[in-house]
Amino acid sequence: MKWLLSMFALAGAAGASAQPTGREPYHLISDSVVPNHGPDGNSVFLDAPEGLILIDTGRHPEHRDRLLSFARARGRPVAAIVNTHWHLDHTTGNGDIRAAYPHAPVYASEAIERALTGFLARSRASTQRALDVGQVPEANRAEVARAFAAMDNAAALRATRPVTASGEMRIAGRRLRVNLARFAATEGDVWLYDPATRVAIVGDLVVAPVPFIDTTCAEGWRRALGEIAATPFTTLIPGHGAPMSRADFTAWRAAFDAFVDCGQSDRPRADCVTGWRRAAARFIPAGGEAMIDGLAGYYIDSRLRATPEERYRYCEDRAG
Ligand SMILES: [Zn+2]
Repeated sequence: MKWLLSMFALAGAAGASAQPTGREPYHLISDSVVPNHGPDGNSVFLDAPEGLILIDTGRHPEHRDRLLSFARARGRPVAAIVNTHWHLDHTTGNGDIRAAYPHAPVYASEAIERALTGFLARSRASTQRALDVGQVPEANRAEVARAFAAMDNAAALRATRPVTASGEMRIAGRRLRVNLARFAATEGDVWLYDPATRVAIVGDLVVAPVPFIDTTCAEGWRRALGEIAATPFTTLIPGHGAPMSRADFTAWRAAFDAFVDCGQSDRPRADCVTGWRRAAARFIPAGGEAMIDGLAGYYIDSRLRATPEERYRYCEDRAG
């Protein structure tokens, strides 16, 4: 079951995507939710002098097609890719997008290196075992094959312009604040802030409907949320789910803090789960409660209440 949760944990409320106008401050290709399948993260397009900046590339071919057809309809090339983090629901499309736009540099942290020999290698091994004993349903096999192919083409997941520190950068000719949060939701989360539009694009540092704690350092994640809070954004685009106002973010952050506090205490597990459901209610789609219970409980058991070795596995540089 663990392989299923780590590979296919699903999340997010799909939002309507607007027609390109050329004047919008960003264009969201919203994440997708298909029951019993892995999610696609949100993707965001920004206009830049040299073309389009594409933030995150999704997992499924359908998501990739939506990205490519937006660029085509917009009549502008993808001039740069930014990956907020290495999770495959945000990076699998890199290979196909780079094949279509070979000159687009990829901005990302270097955390993928450790993931390739650590989390992804373990996840692949457990998924292969499940395949070998016939536990992967037919309906998931194409998705698994695509994930394996993404790992085999690791060059497409790697940055050509590694983000190694926070600072202002010019991407495809557009000036953006590029932030690196180390040892947070992953070992290296990149998030963007555009001072001109006051939009923050934060990847899985903020996610609906439940924080994905698979490769997380809870303390570093809290620190990163503090840095986001200190930024004067008015709109925040999470890794999954609908764009948020500052009030939404503040509510989400409080729910996150309470969930992690509870998960790390010896309070009854069910209290932590119902606490999250209550505090994060506005981010949980109707009918999603049972799924939330499953995921939140899984993260409490497997991460927040794991051995110290496991809990701090993603808090510092070390093998695996
Ligand atoms: Zn994600």
